[in-house]
Amino acid sequence: CSKAAGRDQFSFFAKQMNIRSERRIHLAQKLRQAIEEQRFEVYYQPKWCIRRNKIVGMEALIRWFDAHEGAIPPDEFIPLAEDQGLIGLVDQWVIKKACQDILQVRQQFGEHIQLSVNFSPAHFIRRDLYKRIAEILSETGFPGTSLELEITETFMATENESLLEQLNQIRDLGVEISIDDFGIAYSSLSRLKRLPLNTLKIDRSFIRDIGSDQDDEVIVKTIIDMAHNLNLKVVAEGVETAEQLAFVRQYNCDQVQGFLFSPPIPLQQLIQLMEQQESPVKA
Ligand code: C2E
Ligand code: MG
Ligand code: MG
Ligand code: MG
Repeated sequence: CSKAAGRDQFSFFAKQMNIRSERRIHLAQKLRQAIEEQRFEVYYQPKWCIRRNKIVGMEALIRWFDAHEGAIPPDEFIPLAEDQGLIGLVDQWVIKKACQDILQVRQQFGEHIQLSVNFSPAHFIRRDLYKRIAEILSETGFPGTSLELEITETFMATENESLLEQLNQIRDLGVEISIDDFGIAYSSLSRLKRLPLNTLKIDRSFIRDIGSDQDDEVIVKTIIDMAHNLNLKVVAEGVETAEQLAFVRQYNCDQVQGFLFSPPIPLQQLIQLMEQQESPVKA
């Protein structure tokens, strides 16, 4: 009887895996088509400077709305694009579009506005990566010094021979480097010190439990201090409540990003928001 049960369970899992891989194959086909037809959008989430209480930049986040599937989340299709070797095309499109959009925003609201884009580790396979970035900058006329690449800590923490050299080449273009989702991959301090970084973004999971988990509060405080001691800017992502904002402000976090201020929104909405230029929370 237990053998039969085991068999049932096995066929249950096999079936689940089949459904999953069928969906992946289906999505991979759709993804190729979407890339060809450029059927993506870029949304922007403002970054707020705590001290100045105003928007100082925005993060570009890709959106894919499919007629049949509805919104397909980036957490699902970005890893797929990486597996399929399509991420270069996707990110290139996003960076170019975002540079064009934010150039317009900077004309209207000032040259202090910075653009952050997410940058897949898969790009580092290309030795001439910085050339591609330089090309996009010169094609769009966007200043390298106002562009920041967000790269996840998980990747930064892995030993990679050419990483340091490639980051330095990117930095030579004036482009800044930010570590995304910081705090979950155990980067060593000495490694952090060696990499040419500008910014740490505290992972959302630590911000979420401010007020309910003392360990996470200690981690947030520690990351802020550490970042400042290493001369890095620090951003809290996923700030949803006034309490979380008060906490990170108390410990001198530089910038915040999160639903409390604004979710990621289309360009036109971003411009409207900036015209009001009012923080939902009074200083
Ligand atoms: P990420 O770079 O860490 O982006 C932050 C994610 O948190 C975004 O999800 C954003 O919508 C969400 N978020 C922002 N504020 C809040 C908040 O207050 N509460 C909560 N619960 N969530 C918040 P999204 O847009 O679904 O993106 C997920 C991930 O997909 C990103 O994480 C990034 O790693 C990746 N991604 C998105 N766009 C791109 C892209 O153009 N290229 C690459 N390579 N990756 C991208
Ligand atoms: Mg990011
Ligand atoms: Mg993040
Ligand atoms: Mg993330």
